[in-house]
Parts: sequence; C-alpha cells; structure tokens
Amino acid sequence: MKTYDVVVIGAGNGGLAAAATCAKAGLSTLLLERHNIPGGSASSFVRGRFEFEPSLHELCGVGAPDKTGSVEDMFNRFGGDVDWFIHDSTFRLVVPAKEGDTDTFINEDGIEVTVDARMPVGFEAFAKKLDELVPGSYESCTEAFRLGGRLFAAYDALDNPKKLPGSLKDFPNIMRMVSHTMKEGLDALGMPKKAQDIFNTYWCYMGSPASQFDFLYYLTVLYSYVQNGTGIPKLRSHEMSLALDKVIRDAGGDIWYNSEVTKVLMKNGKPAGVIINGNKEVFSKYFICNSSPNKVWNDLFEAKEVPEKQLKMLNARKTACALTTVYLGMNKTIEE
Ligand SMILES: Cc1cc2nc3c(=O)[nH]c(=O)nc-3n(C[C@H](O)[C@H](O)[C@H](O)COP(=O)(O)OP(=O)(O)OC[C@H]3O[C@@H](n4cnc5c(N)ncnc54)[C@H](O)[C@@H]3O)c2cc1C
Repeated sequence: MKTYDVVVIGAGNGGLAAAATCAKAGLSTLLLERHNIPGGSASSFVRGRFEFEPSLHELCGVGAPDKTGSVEDMFNRFGGDVDWFIHDSTFRLVVPAKEGDTDTFINEDGIEVTVDARMPVGFEAFAKKLDELVPGSYESCTEAFRLGGRLFAAYDALDNPKKLPGSLKDFPNIMRMVSHTMKEGLDALGMPKKAQDIFNTYWCYMGSPASQFDFLYYLTVLYSYVQNGTGIPKLRSHEMSLALDKVIRDAGGDIWYNSEVTKVLMKNGKPAGVIINGNKEVFSKYFICNSSPNKVWNDLFEAKEVPEKQLKMLNARKTACALTTVYLGMNKTIEE
C-alpha cells in the first residue's frame, strides 16, 4: 500500500484549500471526506423548487471591483476557475417600523420602515452613509475603522515580529479593548445607539448579541468586509468546492469520498496512518485534519494519546448551540 506524504481529513473549504496547496507543491496528497460531495458546510440542499445555501451568502476576499482579494488570489494561484458575482454593498438592513417610531418612511418595496440601508464598501463611504442615516455618527464610525486598521497592524506584528519590530506593547489601545464587548467598545467611542444597531448588523452571523460579543473580533470581521467588499461564486458554493476538487486531481492528488476517518493509527507516539470506515488502513508522513477538535480528540484518538495542551484547550471551551437558522422559500410577492 502506498504511503502518502500528506493525508487531509475533511473536504470542507479548509481541507480542500490545504490539499490543493500540498498537491500543487508536489506532495503526494490524499483528501478523505465522509460525505459523497466536497464543500462541508459550504454546500446546498433542495426543498421543493428552492435550493438553499446553508452557509455561504457572501465571501470576503473575492475582491472589490478595482482590486483582487485573498480568496480570488488563491484561486488565481491554483489556476482554479471560479466566476464571481460581486455584491454592490456590504449588507442591506431593513428595519420595519413599530408603533411609536417617529422617523419612519415607506421604502421602495412599499414597507413602512425606520431604517432601510445598503451599506457601501469602503470606509469613507460607509461612515458617510451611516452619518446620513444617523447624523452625528461619522466621527465614531471613522474612529472604529481606524482602530480596526491598528488591529490588523497588531495581527501583522504578531505574525511577523521581525518585519514589524516591537510587540503588542506598541498597540496600547488594542490591549485596552481586549475582552470588551461590541457595545462597550462602541459606547466608549460615543456611537449613537441607532448607529450601533446598523454598524452591528453582522452580530446575527456571530450568534451572540452586541452586549456579549467580543469587540475586537467583530471589528476584524466588519473591517474586512468594508475594506474588501463581498461576493459569491455565480454557481454558488459548489462551484468553489468543485473547482478545488479539480485543482487537486489535476496536480496528481487523490480524493476519496464516502471515506470517514474513524481512527488515527499511532507509531512511536506520532500519527502514522488512519483507518477509513472502520476497516481500511492508509499511511502517511503528515496529517492535516479539518474535523472539529472535539470529534478528533474524543473519537479518533485513544484518551492516553491526547496531548496535554489539547486536553486543556478542550476543557477550557464551553460548547453550546448559539445560532439557529431558518430557511424560508418565499412563494409570494412581498405585498402578499
Ligand atoms: C449558518 C452559517 C452561515 C455562514 N455564512 C457564511 C458566509 O456568508 N460567508 C462566509 O465566508 N462564511 C460563512 N459561514 C462559515 C463557513 O461556512 C465555514 O467557516 C466554512 O465553510 C467552514 O469550512 P471548513 O472546511 O473549516 O469546515 P467544514 O465545512 O465543517 O468541513 C469539515 C469537513 O470535514 C468532514 N469530516 C469531518 N470529520 C471527518 C472524518 N472523521 N472523516 C472524513 N471527513 C470528515 C466533514 O464532513 C466536512 O465536509 C457560515 C456558517 C454557517 C454555519
């Protein structure tokens, strides 16, 4: 039986990108996926005449009209063929009016709303739009994005200590913000409440409200979206995963679907192979695992093989359901 250089477990977008990188680098690569198709969370399902895309609605890093982003760069580097649809705004927020609201109007869909905003790409345009909707919010919005820029510089400093001499000590405001919530951060910047509601729209992706969610993490996400814009493959998530499947195979890699890794085989304290579907052994020098840490350390390894550091990390986490998504196929017009 052939010994691979690399076995990648899981053909979600992470595993697909990892396997494509290894195969393109000339390593003999095997990608294993328990399902019959690639994509993982980035997939779709059909009910009636509707096709639902459970996760990917917009991707950051596919490039604003005038520059390419990191995802598009990756596909260009791999030679993968994906046709992108670029969105003309970061998000649209529609807040229906409720009794007692004073500043309401009828929007183009004939609905009475208090806010109906297409928030544009670009920091200046975004801050101006927010100020138009909530006068007096321009300064705090601009300051939030300035902090976002410092945050990315801090990430850079952590990644490249040689390139950017210094440490997080050079970013005192970032250190001060650590562990504060979105609400605390934006209150401190003096952002009006209604502007915060618009600025914080992505909270629903995060699964926790602004009063609980980490300010730095949120700034990282919003900053990226506003800086880079968003898009989606024209043929939706499958276009991306199938393009990566082709990149891997064209580079000589193997992909086996319907192949669940049920155990990791150890030799001299190191992973040496995997068991697939409970009966087939495959050997490799290196492993990249795209499955969840809980599953990996609880199911794929014996308890005595789990490194102490991983055990600590697992025990430090609380796992809970934070988000429920409801898929609605709207069979009627908005008026109906
Ligand atoms: C509701 C929702 C909305 C989202 N919206 C967006 C969005 O708009 N934009 C965006 O960029 N991101 C969005 N995301 C996040 C994005 O979908 C995920 O971050 C991304 O798809 C995760 O990819 P992954 O490869 O890391 O993991 P996964 O997609 O989870 O892939 C893991 C793969 O490993 C396989 N696997 C696991 N264990 C084994 C095993 N033992 N053997 C073999 N195979 C195994 C699984 O079957 C799966 O295919 C959203 C997520 C959700 C849930």
